[in-house]
Order: sequence, then C-alpha cells, then structure tokens
Amino acid sequence: MDYSQLDDEQICLGTDEDIETNLGGVMPPIVQTSLFKFKSLEALHAGLDKEHENYVYTRGQNPTVEILEKKLALLERGEACKCFSSGMAAVSAVFMGLLEKSNHILFVNNVYGPTMQLAKHLQKFGIDFDVVTDNDIKKIEKSIRLKTRLIYIESPGSLLFHVVDIPTITALAKKRGILTCIDNSWATPLYQKPLEMGVDISIQSCTKYIGGHCDVMAGAVISSNELIKKIFYNTFLLQGGILSPFDAWLLIRGLRTLPTRLKQHHADALSVAHLLQKNPKIKTVFHPAVHPKDKELAGKLLTGYTGVFGFELKSGSFKKVERFIDNLKIFNIGISWGGTQSLVFSPNNGHNEESLKMQSIPSGLIRISVGLEGADRLIQDIDQALASI
Ligand SMILES: *Cc1c(COP(=O)(O)O)cnc(C)c1O
Repeated sequence: MDYSQLDDEQICLGTDEDIETNLGGVMPPIVQTSLFKFKSLEALHAGLDKEHENYVYTRGQNPTVEILEKKLALLERGEACKCFSSGMAAVSAVFMGLLEKSNHILFVNNVYGPTMQLAKHLQKFGIDFDVVTDNDIKKIEKSIRLKTRLIYIESPGSLLFHVVDIPTITALAKKRGILTCIDNSWATPLYQKPLEMGVDISIQSCTKYIGGHCDVMAGAVISSNELIKKIFYNTFLLQGGILSPFDAWLLIRGLRTLPTRLKQHHADALSVAHLLQKNPKIKTVFHPAVHPKDKELAGKLLTGYTGVFGFELKSGSFKKVERFIDNLKIFNIGISWGGTQSLVFSPNNGHNEESLKMQSIPSGLIRISVGLEGADRLIQDIDQALASI
C-alpha cells in the first residue's frame, strides 16, 4: 500500500490496514501470545538476530502492537514508533536509552511533574538538567552546556499551556548537534507535527486523547529508524515496559474516533474558554488560542486545539478554589485528561503556595479537561459553581 496517499483520518479509521493482516476483520486481531514458534532452530536464531523486525517474543514485537505503531509513526510523520505500557515508560526509555553519565538535559517550558521527578532521579546517575520556562531563545542558548545532549520540550506545556517556538529551538539544537524531544500529548499528532518542525523524537501519553476513554494506559515514542532501534535494544527490550496486545487494540479502537472526538473537544473547550474570559471572577484564561502571550505562535504551530486548559480565579485563596471545585456537578474531580467525561483539578492543596510560586503557578489555578457532554451544559455548571464563591 502507498501510505503517502493516506491522510490522517484514513490512518485513524483503518484504511491502512490490509485484509490479510486483519484476517478479514474490520478490526485487527488481538494476537494474545507471549511467544512465537519457528519451523527450525536456525529460523529462530535468524529471528533473534533482528528482534526489532521479527515476532519472537511479545516483549519485543507483537503483530497487534505493531499495527498501532505503524499508525502512530504515519500520523507523526516519523519512520518508526515503539509503544510502551505508559507515557512515563516512554519518557524513561528515551532518557535511559539515549543518554549516559555526565550528559545534560535542557527542559524548555512547564514540563509534566513526573518527567521532572525522573530527571531529578537521574542526577544520581550523573545526568544533570536545567529548566527554561519562558520562550526566550537567548536564555535557551545560554543554558546549553558542553555536555547538553538533549533539549526536551513540552508545548503546549503542562498546567499553563504556554507555547514555545519549536522551529527556532530545533534550528538552534541542530546547529549545536543536540537531539530534541517533545512531549506531544496535548496536541496529539493530529494537531501538531513536531517532526516536520525538525524535532528528532516525539512522545505521546496515549493514556490521554489517543485512548480517549480513560480505560487504558499507554505511551509511544516516534522517531527515525536509527533512534528507535537504539531505544529498542537499550531500553524497550530490557526495561520491559511493553504495551499488551489487548491495550494496543483498545488504542487502535480509540484512533477510530480520534478525529471526530478532537473536533468536538476543540470547539467546546474554545466556547468554554471564551466565556470564562468574560467572567469577572476569572483573572486569566490559560488556553493557547486565548492567552495573549500564546495565541499568535499557537496559530502558527497548531492546526487545532484539544480540550484541556487552565484558568485562574481572581481570588487565589485555597478555600475559594476548593469551594468552586467541590460545587461543580458535571465535572469529575480527578487528575489526568483526554477522556469523554469532563474533569477538574487544581495543583493547589492548601499548603503548597510557596512551591507553586516558585514554579510561577498561580494559587488560584484550575485545570479542566472538557469532555463530550456539550459546551452549554458545561458552561452552566461552571457558572453556578462560580456564583457560589
Ligand atoms: C499524563 C502525561 C504523561 C505521562 O503519561 P502516563 O501515561 O500517565 O504515564 C506525560 N506527559 C504529559 C504531558 C501527560 O499529561
């Protein structure tokens, strides 16, 4: 099949799947097996010699997982993809598979908390890091050290959803011979193509929009054949954080509706964000299409917006944050995002104002994940909860 002829919607819907691979099914088979058998010992050893290309053992390659990996590689415009049991397993595999003692990572933008905790842990193994949270290319350039091997970007970033200038950063990194990696979970490969902007590696927490129903945990790394092969042998095969065939099948099912779900998340989140902007109890709306600092660049880099964003209550008191969240009726109180049901969260726990201030996170910050209940219903719910504070 000529995959270059397929658009993103067709890849999501399964036009790329052939009748033989799917055993005639409109959905691919779940190849629930731990190992594969061979006709001879010689054939088995030939398989083991190139385990990244052959079905030998499901800790390496599995046909159901491979169908998903091919789709994600096509969607991100990468040569290859490996899937993992969670987004964090994917992040760990990149750090540990490509870095070594005395290397340095430069983080750009507000990066997902557990990724930063992992970076702190890696300091024990001689890998150091720095963080630049604003979109200042001079500051980024100044923070590059002789040993900087990786620039790790999240854009839009966690909690504040600020956007950074990806093409400028990758141009700088290329000039200095530094690898770049992005956490592209927020935009998904449908709304942002980082590899086309020069990024070397794209990571997805498929737990979020790709799965889309809050019923599966998974991660993916998309890159060149060379880097994926390195990650395969250095970490994927050895750390063992693999995606199960059934979970891969759930994600293939998730992809079937991803384009349609995202259209609805995009429209409804924008409606909610625009209304919040007009509410006198709201100080700032942290949505990349709305925030004055982000909207111009976001319009250039993203082809759509998903459903997660933040806003800041004028009063940052914990009591008000708590009352607002507890009074919401439709939004479920919980972490994570990207599912069909709306979710609400605040990083404020009532006794971490100092630590939030150090990270430039306003104490009145609320994060919502706009689900598929419909914008009118969600706006009504937010309005009544705001009226109660
Ligand atoms: C959730 C998340 C991750 C981690 O993914 P898991 O599947 O939970 O391990 C990484 N990055 C971002 C931006 C996330 O929101």
